[in-house]
Amino acid sequence: MSMVVMKFGGTSVEDPEAIARTAAIVAGRVAQGKQPVVVVSAMAKVTDQLLRAAAAASVGDRTGALAISSRLRARHRDTASALVKDPKEIVALIDFIDQKFDSLDEVLRGLAAILELTPRISDLIVSYGERLSSRIVAQAFRERSIDAVHVDAREIVITDSSFQKAIPLDAFIEKRAAEKLRPHVDQGRVPVMGGFIASNEAGITTTLGRGGSDFTGALIGGALTAGAIEIWTDVDGIMTADPRVVSEALRVKVISFEEAAELAYFGAKVLHPATILPAVKKNIPVLVLNSRNPSNEGTRIISLAPHCRSPFKSIAVKRKLSIIDVVASRMLMTHGYMSEIFSIFDKHQCPVDMVSTSEVSVSLTVDSNDKLPSVAADLSRLADVKYEGKKALVCLVGEDIRGQNGIAAQVFNAIRHINVRMISQGASEINMSFMIEEEDADEAVRSLHAAFFQNPDPAIFDVEARKS
Ligand code: ASP
Ligand code: MG
Repeated sequence: MSMVVMKFGGTSVEDPEAIARTAAIVAGRVAQGKQPVVVVSAMAKVTDQLLRAAAAASVGDRTGALAISSRLRARHRDTASALVKDPKEIVALIDFIDQKFDSLDEVLRGLAAILELTPRISDLIVSYGERLSSRIVAQAFRERSIDAVHVDAREIVITDSSFQKAIPLDAFIEKRAAEKLRPHVDQGRVPVMGGFIASNEAGITTTLGRGGSDFTGALIGGALTAGAIEIWTDVDGIMTADPRVVSEALRVKVISFEEAAELAYFGAKVLHPATILPAVKKNIPVLVLNSRNPSNEGTRIISLAPHCRSPFKSIAVKRKLSIIDVVASRMLMTHGYMSEIFSIFDKHQCPVDMVSTSEVSVSLTVDSNDKLPSVAADLSRLADVKYEGKKALVCLVGEDIRGQNGIAAQVFNAIRHINVRMISQGASEINMSFMIEEEDADEAVRSLHAAFFQNPDPAIFDVEARKS
């Protein structure tokens, strides 16, 4: 028997129909003799709405916060009622939902009185999303003849106390998974738990950061040494490019962990980069699958991908970036200068994506955000500073660029009609990225795709889809 961790994202549990599809997918795995452990996100958009309720309450808008909560309560109750018909079970489930919303409302009222939203309170408030979705999904599974059992993720995923982006404590998670998940699996039950939410050693609720449910999936997969981790989402897997931009984009059938992590970082929204790590450590394959198209094979992410005929696997774009040019007025690139620049970014907690330097200037790219004016103000004490928004970073990823000559020339030849602002080849040697105007991004991706995916390797890419 082989254990599989199946993680379902927000869109896979967004309404009764989606939850019913998810149940059918899990039942299918059980029928294959697999032993699933299910991890679910909050229903789509719920995390955002909980954060909006928290923000409203924290500025004293009690009515606004409670109105959001009341809409969410209705949505969860309606979803539960549509899925669960057993008269006793539905009463218990609605009761659970009401209790959770009653306590959420109490927190929101308190927050509206105190007017201070701490990271700890924020984690408590968003945790309701996964606490509710996992409970509803577990009951919906039971109603569909899956022997599911709801497990509170916070009793298993133990982290430090860095609220909103807590660091998992592996040894604890392993122990808790062995105690509180393994016995269910051994007895043929299907544990259903929320992703993203966790708790510190004292039992205070924490979260793993936005999009953290994939991370939960990988942590649980790692802790139980599962045979595979399946990430069920609403796309057919990792594609050679965004299909909304490039209509001939192909599914990538197999990709290495390193390549997938690189792509995730550069904005391919399929996977949380940190997902990769716990799985890599234990050599567990991760599959990205589509819950709207479950017969599709998706993308398999493994430690060592087979050799590919073309240098790249995929092209990703990160938009809404700004470029900051720091130009020392005199030749000032003295010792310590770079560290001063970076300490300013650090102070404002503004992560830098790409850096390029010359004798007198440093260019850095960052996500466009409202901290930029104050970052620039601080930097201008060191040098002349300019910043400009509406930039995009195009990133080509592929292990097979290692050691190949002339790839950069091919890349820049394909986009010779586009003005390139900054270039970098990552230290990982498996990505090549460059910065352009955001308005040129689609055209750049289309040109690159035409140049590099004309004759795709059928071992790596789903060329069948292109034929049909
Ligand atoms: N619900 C959380 C979020 O939206 C975690 C997740 O979905 O992965 O960020
Ligand atoms: Mg999500």
